[in-house]
Amino acid sequence: MKLGENAMRILVVEDEVTLNELTSSRLKKEKYSVDSCFDGEEVFEYIQCAEYDLILLDIMLPKMDGIQVLRKLRAMGKDTPVLLLTARDEIEDRVNGLDAGADDYLVKPFAYEELLARMRVLLRRKDGQSTNEYVVGALKLNCDTKRVYYKEKEVELSAREYAVLECLLRNKGTIMSRDQISNHVWNYYYEGGSNIVDVYIRSLRNKIDKEAGNQIIQTVRGMGYVIKGENE
Ligand code: CA
Repeated sequence: MKLGENAMRILVVEDEVTLNELTSSRLKKEKYSVDSCFDGEEVFEYIQCAEYDLILLDIMLPKMDGIQVLRKLRAMGKDTPVLLLTARDEIEDRVNGLDAGADDYLVKPFAYEELLARMRVLLRRKDGQSTNEYVVGALKLNCDTKRVYYKEKEVELSAREYAVLECLLRNKGTIMSRDQISNHVWNYYYEGGSNIVDVYIRSLRNKIDKEAGNQIIQTVRGMGYVIKGENE
């Protein structure tokens, strides 16, 4: 079990240095783990060393443009989600990009709120493809239907209770600090302090965990909360 970190790893490919740096630091603030590339060829060095959850890919790049990079990635069998960053007048490139296997695009200059929202959609979709159901003991959570079952009986949760539970299950086996949970759940819109997390954990325990003797959501003193996998 490792100390909680947002496991999502992002590659930012953008040759405008300032934009690359600003974007990377904004994403790091959201607790993403971020690497930066400044030309198309570099991408292939980076993907050899790390498995990315999402690639932000500029189209006009030195050495190899974004469309070529994308085609090569897909030809290699890499299905990492790709969000294209395009200039306003690159309509044809956008179409080519989507045809070449891009998952979405964003026109520069963009608002970071929109970038982050689109990234969340792609990351959710990616996550949902491999697992849309999380099961821990008698607890079952389905990410598509947003329904939670305990011992085959549906548990009625509020949207936020659900979000806290989903966050812990998505990071199963990882200790999540209160800040990390509130970052995941409330994101940057929320500035209410992290003890709100305790409130939702308490209500989740009342609704689900009580019967299991509070064994599902575990408190790690001084660190946060964790839902352990079956064999941990
Ligand atoms: Ca560029």
